[in-house]
Amino acid sequence: MTDPQQVHDVTGIGFGPSNLALAIALREKAQQGASVLDAVFLESKPAFAWHPDMLLDNSDMQVSFIKDLVTLRNPASPFSFLSYLHAKGRLERFVNRKSFFPSRHEFNDYFAWAAEQMGGICAYDQHVIGVEPVQARGGSVDLLAVIAQDSKGEQTRRLTRNLVLAVGGKPSVPEVFAEVQGTAEVVHSSAYLSTVKPRLAAADKPMKIAVIGSGQSGAEIFNDLAKDPARPEVDFIFRSHALKPSDDSPFVNEIFNADFTSYVYQQPPARRRALMEEYSNTNYSVVDGDLIAQIYGLFYEQDVTGGSAYGLLRNTQVTAAKAQGGKIALTLCPTHGGNAETRSYDLVVLATGYQRRIGETLLSGLNDYVSGRETGRTYQIATAESFHPRIFLQGYCEETHGLSDTLLSVLAVRVDEIASELLAPRQDTEARLTAAE
Ligand SMILES: Cc1cc2nc3c(=O)[nH]c(=O)nc-3n(C[C@H](O)[C@H](O)[C@H](O)COP(=O)(O)OP(=O)(O)OC[C@H]3O[C@@H](n4cnc5c(N)ncnc54)[C@H](O)[C@@H]3O)c2cc1C
Repeated sequence: MTDPQQVHDVTGIGFGPSNLALAIALREKAQQGASVLDAVFLESKPAFAWHPDMLLDNSDMQVSFIKDLVTLRNPASPFSFLSYLHAKGRLERFVNRKSFFPSRHEFNDYFAWAAEQMGGICAYDQHVIGVEPVQARGGSVDLLAVIAQDSKGEQTRRLTRNLVLAVGGKPSVPEVFAEVQGTAEVVHSSAYLSTVKPRLAAADKPMKIAVIGSGQSGAEIFNDLAKDPARPEVDFIFRSHALKPSDDSPFVNEIFNADFTSYVYQQPPARRRALMEEYSNTNYSVVDGDLIAQIYGLFYEQDVTGGSAYGLLRNTQVTAAKAQGGKIALTLCPTHGGNAETRSYDLVVLATGYQRRIGETLLSGLNDYVSGRETGRTYQIATAESFHPRIFLQGYCEETHGLSDTLLSVLAVRVDEIASELLAPRQDTEARLTAAE
């Protein structure tokens, strides 16, 4: 039972890897003598799960296990991936595997193991629907009220002095699919396993499926469908000419070093944008090289055996999507001019990425106090003078802090910075924020 008068020092919204890492950092700092903060984390899901609908068999992490929740901050932490392996009795076998990249299943299990050890710090089945200022006498705001709703519709209001938002991205659905979005035949990649796989298993004849998008998720889903025992017919549709490999070569990978965050932050906006563009092929619209080779091999083998189950519709843009008798009709146009054709599908999977626009939703109740959404170097949003709660963003600062912001790479270091700010007196952190502007 939540005490409505209790005031938390910190409330975290979302309990994915970012806020889980923060919870651990706060605990470890307290064990090392820092103040014990009363922190609570609110998570929509009923239990810890890391992108559960994309935990595909044979998918590996795209970051080294050393960039886990803690190691870059505290290599001796009992919450490291190596501690997890030790606890699970797989440490030596992991070494024999000779890879820095665990499977996605294993990293999810590691995260869940760490989350479980954090005990009751997270309240699950708590979907935050709003944040409101609590006005003190004299008009200043010292506290925030965080309103969350559970799956039965029951609402809980919690008071907090500080807020850390780490809610991840929301599925991005291109405008052309607006009319069919929400139909059972159109599924975003973020819901892939739990929606598409049961339908494939239940289908009495091979389904015809379109996968849209040439990034890692699109490629993984196409590859997974191609190997599914239900043997669907699958068209892989994307605007570009080729699947391009993600650049994870060592010099380039240094953009994910923690100190690169400060470098990006110190640049003027135009230079930051240029850096994003220059290195976008580390993360956006690119695919792991091994997977590209597998998919190429699949099409090659189809040519050899004379099959037609898989279609590669490259240089192709979807210009219309209509629901028709339980199917989706897609109008497909060549990207560089030519005649359109219409194809009908039982299912359309949108591997069209995620968007991150936090202000329009969770923080809209604070618009009178929060001037912009840009944060200071330590991820704190600038607010009006009369507004005293501190608000930190994790995963929403890519424009100012660089490409590592939405990934796991700098997680352990970022939460160290945020935890230090939370532990410092408020005036100090605000002075730093002002100085940075
Ligand atoms: C399929 C996939 C694979 C990836 N693989 C890698 C990888 O290998 N390496 C890498 O570096 N990055 C990878 N990423 C990037 C990914 O963003 C990070 O791995 C990581 O998930 C970021 O953690 P987070 O906690 O910021 O966000 P998330 O993991 O998205 O967690 C956010 C949490 O907030 C919760 N939430 C959202 N809204 C609310 C609300 N209103 N109230 C309460 N709770 C809420 C969500 O349920 C979720 O649990 C991958 C992303 C995807 C989609």
